[in-house]
Amino acid sequence: MNSQEFREAAHKAVDQIIDYYETIDGRRVTPEIQPGYLAPMLPDAPPQEGEAWDVIQKDLTDKIIPGLTHWQSPNFLAFFPANATYPGMLGELYSSAFTCAAFNWICSPAVTELETVVLDWLCNLLNLPPCYLSTSPTGGGGVIQGSASEAIVIVLVAARDRYLRQCAEGVTDEREIERITAEKRSKLVALGSTQAHSSTQKAALIAGTKFATVEVDKEYKLRGEALRKKIRELKEEGLEPFFLTCTLGTTSTCAIDAFDEIATVAQENPNLWVHVDAAYAGAALILPEYKHLTTSFSHFDSFDMNMHKWLLVPFDASCLFVKSRKPLLDALSITPFFLRNQFSETGLVTDYRDWQIPLGRRFRALKIWFVMRSYGVVGMQKHLYHTMSVGEAFKGMVRGREDLFEVVAEPRFGLTVFRVRGDVGGVEVGKEERSKRANGLTKEVYEKVNAGGEVYLTSTVLGGVYAIRVVTGAPRAEERFVRRAFELLVKAVEEVAGVAVE
Ligand code: PLP
Repeated sequence: MNSQEFREAAHKAVDQIIDYYETIDGRRVTPEIQPGYLAPMLPDAPPQEGEAWDVIQKDLTDKIIPGLTHWQSPNFLAFFPANATYPGMLGELYSSAFTCAAFNWICSPAVTELETVVLDWLCNLLNLPPCYLSTSPTGGGGVIQGSASEAIVIVLVAARDRYLRQCAEGVTDEREIERITAEKRSKLVALGSTQAHSSTQKAALIAGTKFATVEVDKEYKLRGEALRKKIRELKEEGLEPFFLTCTLGTTSTCAIDAFDEIATVAQENPNLWVHVDAAYAGAALILPEYKHLTTSFSHFDSFDMNMHKWLLVPFDASCLFVKSRKPLLDALSITPFFLRNQFSETGLVTDYRDWQIPLGRRFRALKIWFVMRSYGVVGMQKHLYHTMSVGEAFKGMVRGREDLFEVVAEPRFGLTVFRVRGDVGGVEVGKEERSKRANGLTKEVYEKVNAGGEVYLTSTVLGGVYAIRVVTGAPRAEERFVRRAFELLVKAVEEVAGVAVE
């Protein structure tokens, strides 16, 4: 493809993307295809000779788009959203145009320096304590990762290393250090609440440590006393809790752990690395009314939120902040001869390769910069307020039909978790039977609504309670769409429970 062909193809691609967005409301959210649909439609091997863009674009239209689940549709109410926006897309376009695998500062200084600048901007916007800034006396700073799961792997490995180093502190004999390290390593336990995302368990698996869960309270949040008790029990068993993930906005219900209480436990256990997973709901910290949530974060070691979930930056932009970069560098820095350069040697530059798993890295700061500048802080805040107001409207609909539904967890951040009542239709059953019936009906209603393909929802199970989650964080969210989703839910209850509802 030469420059002129690129110009023409890019214009056609942009036109198609705009048309896609302008017609997305009317599309079925989930595709009507069967597993394995694609391979029979494509040749067995790439073409020998290059093809014209028009031919390729036609196949994209006819074969790929029909197999997409439309995450950007306002009828996509599942999981957590993955916001895509035009300024973010422009950032992706330039990022691939420049394609610099900027692992060291010298590999493309602007890539590193813009990342540091936009993450410092974000750090302040989120009201994180100054210790997470790149200029902090503790040597903190932010780095963009691909996902919240990757971020947890990084900090868990850093925490493991820091813990083991501390265990062998003062010992000079190499063999003794090895012995202590090997012995302690087999006893390390990473912790998360029963509601923490599975990524902490996965990170423990990758890092070769044990994993244990801590019970949550009735509001699904981790409390200080339960954590203290768990740590005590593990220590009594001869194990060594070294890492904790606490959560701002759990996946099932958007619960917020009791950070002040956890901070007290962290102070009692100075070797415990505390990580805050705010993958989705962390975005809300840019709003004045949520800023108080960060007051105890200076007692923690790291914080991560995904701008690619709810803050208008297309996937991937997981923003990890650490109070000190030293444990990351101690754990992850390996400098073979070919990576040495005069700038790294001076120690005056940041080489982000030491803050992540891969060596090469993309220019992800660009799309964050474009989004922040195009929307401004006010625009980003408006997006959050708007999507939360759509969530509030949906919550009102659910609460307005208490004869059919009950809310399972306090709705927040645009997420409503609810189920069909076990006594719907006036059926009189005992408590246990009612709960069983509620689970069965909720599952059937959920499956029926999703099978229709007009909207897409997800479900969860909370302490044996089967529930439906509706989340409204997409940029195109509007009340009329959730009203339609609610109508479909009501209709499904009518059909599944065999009751006439008005
Ligand atoms: N943490 C929480 C609270 C989440 O809800 C999720 C995913 O939804 C994750 C972590 C994992 O996110 P990622 O896909 O960025 O790894």
